[in-house]
Amino acid sequence: MDLNFTPEEEAFRVKARAWLEGNAPAPMESMDTPDGFEQHRDWEEHLYEHGWAAVSWPREFGGRDATLIEWLIFEEEYYRVGAPRRLNQNGLFLLGPVLLEYGTKEQKERYLPKIVSAEEIWCQGWSEPNAGSDLASLTSKATRDGDEWVLTGQKTWCSRGVYADWMFGLFRSDPSSERHKGLSYILVPLESPGVTVRPIAQIDGEPGFAEVFLDNVRVPVANTLGPEGEGWQIAMSTAGFERGVALRSPGRFMASADRLVSSYMAREHLVSPSLRNDVINSWMEVEAYRLYTFWSVSRKLAGGTIGAEASLNKVWWSEMDVRLHDTALRLLGEDATLPLGDEHWLDGFLFSLAGPIYAGTNEIQRNIIAERVLGLPRS
Ligand SMILES: Cc1cc2nc3c(=O)[nH]c(=O)nc-3n(C[C@H](O)[C@H](O)[C@H](O)COP(=O)(O)OP(=O)(O)OC[C@H]3O[C@@H](n4cnc5c(N)ncnc54)[C@H](O)[C@@H]3O)c2cc1C
Repeated sequence: MDLNFTPEEEAFRVKARAWLEGNAPAPMESMDTPDGFEQHRDWEEHLYEHGWAAVSWPREFGGRDATLIEWLIFEEEYYRVGAPRRLNQNGLFLLGPVLLEYGTKEQKERYLPKIVSAEEIWCQGWSEPNAGSDLASLTSKATRDGDEWVLTGQKTWCSRGVYADWMFGLFRSDPSSERHKGLSYILVPLESPGVTVRPIAQIDGEPGFAEVFLDNVRVPVANTLGPEGEGWQIAMSTAGFERGVALRSPGRFMASADRLVSSYMAREHLVSPSLRNDVINSWMEVEAYRLYTFWSVSRKLAGGTIGAEASLNKVWWSEMDVRLHDTALRLLGEDATLPLGDEHWLDGFLFSLAGPIYAGTNEIQRNIIAERVLGLPRS
């Protein structure tokens, strides 16, 4: 395995770094507030206008045809300069890749350009009040009426749902079916009559989530992604992107690990020497995750696939992030509650606690790893 970047990849990094250093905005309000949402949308538009919104997408849909390795490089540079969290991450990193793979020509032309330009912000409508880990027990229904679906039911925990324009969701379209069969993957405009969106406050008090009620909502059957009744396969492909490299690239954690080292250097004389090892371990763990990601992406580019191993990624980045933030809080002590320049460790810590839950809980990922990676019998 060659750990060096090619001259083209190095040139890509130089170009991305120069642009980001010249353009990254000052810290913004939380994207879960009305003002913060608009600030983040403006930033997304700026990225799009300069061709940096979705570097690995095809040019015809607003990307720049970069390879996945170049995308990882872009992510490193993006988070290194402290650029904002991505407002349309559901559209860019979850729906976009499955649209590229399973969407019709019309669907790709209709949806992808508006995702990349942030004209349409997406949320994910999978979880329901009684269907989380056991997603196949969902009860929201899609009933066919001519060329339309009539949707009824309730989705919950939809991140960015309060301000989103669209939702991609899973619905039972075959009433005689059970479990994973007979589900359809449907794209729902949230301005449709019959949709009610109710905010849910997150641990930080901002309405980062929404519950979405669907009361006889009519959407064209043409909004079905993939074959009718085969939504589960498409959804699992989305989940692969979510748990694998797309949603949480190493660049984000690298930036936190570098920040942790700087915080430690500034306080070394004040804190217990035993913290030194924890800081070093956190940094090494992130570097190992980074190398592992470059390895698995290289494997994919060589024709391989990322299957159930995506669950390993998910457990790795989510638990690593909690440990890293926990170390930062111990390092800062009471100062962690103060807004210290760019050291927002407390917010980061609170968000890291959600990592083992979203994108499928880590207990479920461990079940998948046991059964499908290690080949152990079902418990
Ligand atoms: C920050 C955040 C963002 C989210 N964003 C979205 C979103 O945008 N769209 C969306 O649809 N959902 C979203 N979710 C919801 C998320 O997908 C669910 O919370 C998750 O799948 C778990 O479902 P649940 O909350 O219903 O918990 P449950 O499924 O009720 O699980 C409760 C506990 O039991 C454990 N458990 C359940 N079954 C098993 C089993 N078979 N073996 C071992 N342990 C088990 C779980 O691991 C968990 O610890 C988000 C969640 C969070 C925290």
